[in-house]
Amino acid sequence: MRILHVAAEVHPLVKTGGLADVVGALPPALADLGLDVRLLLPGLPAIVSALQQRREICNFGAQFGASPVRLCIGRIASQPAPVYVIDAPDLYRRGGSPYQAADGSDWPDNLQRFALLGWVAAQLAAGAGDPAWQPAIVHAHDWHAALACAYVRADPRCRSMRTVFTIHNLAFQGLFPAADFGLLGLPQEFMQTEGLEFYGRLSFMKAGLVWADRITTVSPTYAREIATPDYGCGMDGMIRHRAADVSGILNGVDPQVWNPLTDADLPAHFSAQQLAGKGSCKQALQQELGLKPVAGALLFTLVSRLSHQKGIDLLLEALPAMFASGAQLALLGSGDAQLQAALQDLSRRWPGQMGLRIGYDEAMAHRMIAGADALLVPSRFEPCGLTQLYALRYGTLPVVRRTGGLADTVLDGDEAGSTGFIFDAATAPALQGAMQRALLAYARPAHWQAMQRQAMAQDFSWQASARQLALLYQSLS
Ligand code: ADP
Repeated sequence: MRILHVAAEVHPLVKTGGLADVVGALPPALADLGLDVRLLLPGLPAIVSALQQRREICNFGAQFGASPVRLCIGRIASQPAPVYVIDAPDLYRRGGSPYQAADGSDWPDNLQRFALLGWVAAQLAAGAGDPAWQPAIVHAHDWHAALACAYVRADPRCRSMRTVFTIHNLAFQGLFPAADFGLLGLPQEFMQTEGLEFYGRLSFMKAGLVWADRITTVSPTYAREIATPDYGCGMDGMIRHRAADVSGILNGVDPQVWNPLTDADLPAHFSAQQLAGKGSCKQALQQELGLKPVAGALLFTLVSRLSHQKGIDLLLEALPAMFASGAQLALLGSGDAQLQAALQDLSRRWPGQMGLRIGYDEAMAHRMIAGADALLVPSRFEPCGLTQLYALRYGTLPVVRRTGGLADTVLDGDEAGSTGFIFDAATAPALQGAMQRALLAYARPAHWQAMQRQAMAQDFSWQASARQLALLYQSLS
């Protein structure tokens, strides 16, 4: 079965968050099951320059204000199958992130940039992009690719085509002025309330919610949460309306990238049976961040975008008491300027106990997750969350809020089965309570090690998720 995955990011070339990790790891896992999976990506600079054996297969001329627009096929190192790349220099060849300029403002032509991504997906589905390979299913990821579902629906050549849409985060909806609808080249009826219209604006996300044959999200709990007003970001009614077609399939871990026995970014390696290397990673991390070299101090870590969603404000409130108890923190993140400033201020007040790195640094993320004892994920909502999955593999016990994929992956129960510490209310005292419990558990080394082994024995491989997805694809054919 031929499936085209459409996305704006792919690890290791372009990554702003978990989406890239999923897009990097899922197609190979599906290919292992015998599916014929290819990726369609926008020609962002890092993607174009990594494309090997590049061949132009179609010239679409001028589209969405860009000229030329070419479809290329080639290879990128992490993918077993060929990938399609849209080479549209006017829209994609620029610095900054895929979505924003260096100053943090959205690219003013994001509507055209991501409409083109969806439109080219539909061309491939219609057999007009690559006559040698026509997918049976188009699988679009997040709002950036969602318009593929609308273009496929609008195209009479795609009558037998099926679409799947995965919500990686419902809070990012791809909203644009309604007046720009004309730029999309879709029939006027697509702009109704039952279409792209969303409270007087145009939402790309809705294209996936309205027209995809199946909607998935990245954990079973988040699939239930987004059907409620508290987590639905104004779209819960729509999700409830599509309830029969919505399912949650948990993300996995790419063992090529996150494996404590082989991780090239670490100063030492370890496994559940041989944990000594983890101690060396901790020592090296303490040294790197200027933390006191105390082996017995519980070292928390957090690797995250710094935003309201991630509960960083709760953490700021909870930390002083934790530091007073002797705990340490290694934090890597970037995002909201106010949160960054508040963290910098706190780290100046707790030298030797708080090591802060503002920025985005993949290798540092590995060293922090490996070297720490516990990982903090105090998110207000978390569709799946990947860092807690990585942490579990690295014997770094997660302290998480009971929401989304965090609730589905961390066990906090009787002594024998626990892998971490869960709290319920999105408040600083609740977070502090869970961190306190971690401190108490850490004071009992045998118990802590038993939890570590339990955590490292969890199986969050992509195979299980890929199998569920393959069944979903089969149900569409
Ligand atoms: P989200 O997609 O909401 O940002 P996830 O937990 O699903 O959150 O995925 C985040 C991914 O981005 C993980 O792979 C994490 O390691 C990585 N990450 C987040 N912030 C940083 C950072 N500052 N430096 C390096 N990696 C980061």
